[in-house]
Amino acid sequence: MSKSDWDSALGQLLGANKIYAVVEHEACLDYDLINSDRIPHIIYNQPKPVTPLKMFFLPIKQNVSNLEAQNKQIIIGAPNCDVEALRILDEIYLEEPFTDPFYKQRRENTLIISSDCLDILEHCHCNSYGIDPFASEIADLSIILLENQAVLTSLGKKGDAFIKTLSSLEGTSLNDYPNDAIIEEKHSATIQKLKKSNNTLPGYKESGMLVSRSNGEIWKKYASDCVSCGACSAICPTCSCFLLNDKPAFEKVRQIDTCQYPGFERVAGGEDALGNLATRFRNRYMCKYVWKPETFEALACTGCGRCIETCIGGINKNELIIELEKETMSR
Ligand code: SF4
Ligand code: SF4
Ligand code: SF4
Repeated sequence: MSKSDWDSALGQLLGANKIYAVVEHEACLDYDLINSDRIPHIIYNQPKPVTPLKMFFLPIKQNVSNLEAQNKQIIIGAPNCDVEALRILDEIYLEEPFTDPFYKQRRENTLIISSDCLDILEHCHCNSYGIDPFASEIADLSIILLENQAVLTSLGKKGDAFIKTLSSLEGTSLNDYPNDAIIEEKHSATIQKLKKSNNTLPGYKESGMLVSRSNGEIWKKYASDCVSCGACSAICPTCSCFLLNDKPAFEKVRQIDTCQYPGFERVAGGEDALGNLATRFRNRYMCKYVWKPETFEALACTGCGRCIETCIGGINKNELIIELEKETMSR
């Protein structure tokens, strides 16, 4: 549909849905709640919102005492690295018999419109782990803006129903987009950029082997710049750890936790398997590249690059892995 029809459709959908979309903030892109004035300012096809998609399903803090009714929401602009990260969260939070009703409710009430990345940022490396920079079937629809057209592709049942809704709205006219070749060309240009940018980075499985075989020195070296702030894991789209806090009147509040915080594994009596900084620092790598792959089918790192961008100590996970590979080769 034309971009103006798409904007008008979003305006009509605002009544029944909360719409979150990527917009420009001072120095970055991030999601915001959209009202009719902000619809023309939505950013499409640019990497990447600061906030990972998981925050819509696992908020930083959430009262989990009672399951209350939740409004339907539409999220526009999630990049595929974030959408792919839902695979492992779905395995963790939706699989029987330990389905999490709070996560499930949010997943069911949310329509995800993923935005194809037509550019990359310095630390994007989804392709190194076999993930495309454009929508997978985990999203409900994909969107790409081309020649003043909003090209929407349904990726499943929720997407089909949404397209039907669009066609019933006033003043919107849907057509088949005739030029798939242009879309393929755009996709392949992004892939070429990613390949060039990550040509020395080992793949996901290889990284797991390197991490599990590594000795203590490299972890001490990189951990010496770590201040245990936890940002790398809090912002990671696949990290799933949380604390359950007891509040007065038997209320329970779930809050994001991370293995990078001191005391993460401290138990009654004071023992703490991750009390040492270098051991704690290595834990995140073991979790993502060694332990999670032993238990789950989905990847525990989708190459979004946020942990590198956010690290206050300037630690670059990919440099560490490349250094590990060089060390192994020189042995
Ligand atoms: S480990 Fe880093 S690059 Fe991988 S998904 Fe998490 S934040 Fe992104
Ligand atoms: S890396 Fe750390 S915070 Fe992330 S899921 Fe694993 S143990 Fe939890
Ligand atoms: S973001 Fe950097 S400094 Fe903070 S815990 Fe992670 S590695 Fe350490």
